[in-house]
Amino acid sequence: MTDVLLGIETSCDETSAAVLVGEGDRPELASLVILSQDVHRIFGGVVPELASRAHLRTLDAVVQRALVEAGLPLSAVEAIAVTAGPGLVGSLLVGVCYAKALAAAGGRRLVGVHHLEGHVFAPTLEDPDLKPPFVALVVSGGHTLLLDVPEWGRYAVLGETRDDAAGEAFDKVATLLGLEFPGGPHIERLAKEGNDRFGFPRPMQHDGFDFSFSGLKTAVLHTVRESPPRSERDTADLAASFQAAVIDVLVHKTVAAMEATGRSTVVAGGGVACNTALRQAMVAALRGRARLAVAQPRLNADNAAMIARAGWFRLARGEGSDLYLEADPMLAWPGLHKTDGGGQDGPGDGRESPSRRPGFAGPSPGPSGPPTSTRS
Ligand code: ADP
Ligand code: MG
Repeated sequence: MTDVLLGIETSCDETSAAVLVGEGDRPELASLVILSQDVHRIFGGVVPELASRAHLRTLDAVVQRALVEAGLPLSAVEAIAVTAGPGLVGSLLVGVCYAKALAAAGGRRLVGVHHLEGHVFAPTLEDPDLKPPFVALVVSGGHTLLLDVPEWGRYAVLGETRDDAAGEAFDKVATLLGLEFPGGPHIERLAKEGNDRFGFPRPMQHDGFDFSFSGLKTAVLHTVRESPPRSERDTADLAASFQAAVIDVLVHKTVAAMEATGRSTVVAGGGVACNTALRQAMVAALRGRARLAVAQPRLNADNAAMIARAGWFRLARGEGSDLYLEADPMLAWPGLHKTDGGGQDGPGDGRESPSRRPGFAGPSPGPSGPPTSTRS
């Protein structure tokens, strides 16, 4: 198995590179560099064209920096793992082309990684003993998935969102409240000062394992329209009420999934899993029954370390990609399948709903600016 692996992530608006070093199934993180693109704040969402250009400008420097921090020359790198999808096609292309060139030039092994598999592997970077079976909750800007993971590489979909992803709901509600993009961290900060006094609905809380967040977002919209917040206190209460509703639903369904599958470990991954209130509520609900494995925020939001780790797993199994590897914005997740239970419908393959597809996404181009995709 490879001793030195370079990971590359450019699926959306983070340009990231990481180096993993080691043997067997316990690689160590030698370095991780994440460059977040600030420009999108101006537009309230990720502008795909700007994102890909920024990756093009910075990726080489980010990779060089990751090698310097790992204390290794490029010649030491034996394999390369790169996010092949899902994500914004232009952004993915930059990483995939770069990775293919490095692989071809140095005769290195190459593996294209599914971005969401990276999120599920993230906690193993700090907790190498973490192993399936477990239940996994993946909550990011583009996805909300509840999975049963009997072994690495096999993922059974218990539930998924029927409309907005959890992170997308955070971002849209933040916009309603006049907060900056991405909104999750701002809502969390404000929620600490507020109270859950609006009693927003907990959509589909007791209805299978699927999720729905668009009605909750609309409930916040109506409340804001009917009685616009007059003080910081009002805004904080709205943020706290919205966040409490999302957390109640996520925790309730995850606990139900843990009970239904009999698993004693729950893995949480994706940007929304950076939310401290969610982590605390999850730990409290699981106490005495299951443990929560969740990586530190830097490894939870989009980063190349998790891509490197998932790629390490795939290469160790003898898998890999050739130089025909393509960037695929709708990439199917290898090993993912739908279960019969849970009452869910939808594609069940980890793909984005049409409204979230980069290129089809989000707000129509209004007079105020170019089309944006809130996330990949
Ligand atoms: P994607 O993989 O879909 O590009 P990430 O995994 O990077 O997304 O997650 C980004 C999402 O996570 C955004 O929607 C952001 O608002 C949300 N997020 C980040 N931090 C927090 C937080 N503390 N609380 C809630 N949501 C958060
Ligand atoms: Mg992500």
